Amino acid sequence: MPMWNPWRGCKRVSEGCKYCYIHKGDYKKGINTENIIKTDDFYKPIEKLKNGSYKIKKGIVYVCFSSDFFIEEADEWRKECWKMIKERSDLTFLFLTKRITRFYDCIPEDWNEGYDNVVICTTVENQKNADERLSFFSKLPIRHKCITAQPLLENINIEKYLDDIEIVVVGGESDYNARPLNYDWVLNIRKQCINKNVEFEFRQAGTYFIEDDKMTKLSVRELMKVAREKNINYKSK
Ligand code: SF4
Repeated sequence: MPMWNPWRGCKRVSEGCKYCYIHKGDYKKGINTENIIKTDDFYKPIEKLKNGSYKIKKGIVYVCFSSDFFIEEADEWRKECWKMIKERSDLTFLFLTKRITRFYDCIPEDWNEGYDNVVICTTVENQKNADERLSFFSKLPIRHKCITAQPLLENINIEKYLDDIEIVVVGGESDYNARPLNYDWVLNIRKQCINKNVEFEFRQAGTYFIEDDKMTKLSVRELMKVAREKNINYKSK
């Protein structure tokens, strides 16, 4: 699974960031996460082998999983990233953002209706964020759109924003102090996706997982397993 982190570091923007795994990891290492810096991987998508072929051969490239692709501090650097993304039209680039409302400050001049090899995934965690971000997201010219509701912090209704969404991914929070995930909220989003025939994936449970009014504490290793065992993913028809 190719990863591309052209820069690292991020700043909290909303409730879902409270137990951000990047901040937690950096805290242990004594790194200031709010210091946004370019990484040595900046040119990774266009790096070549001695024989002249690209190092990354094919598939989906997961972008900026140690930051947010639309973070303000990277506005100057992002232009070069778009050029690389355009050059590698044989790859698909996917990133998540909590800063979708910055979209028009972040796209390249020739974006038009969107690059066909870019998937943009808007992250939401509660109804307030969902309404703010998805009402904006739903009007944007993007060829491939996804929604990630993780960490899901409350019951949310997003059905009216699902018209051109390719997949909705739902998950709980992972942390010793995590806020609980109620399974009813997951099933509710699943129902909304089925109503709109949108693919749905329950990616992970939460450290504190409530089902039938009973709360269970799960280890990190159990989070994805529990979600898988529910077997509730939905493929659009
Ligand atoms: S936007 Fe994402 S990467 Fe940035 S602080 Fe929030 S959770 Fe962490």
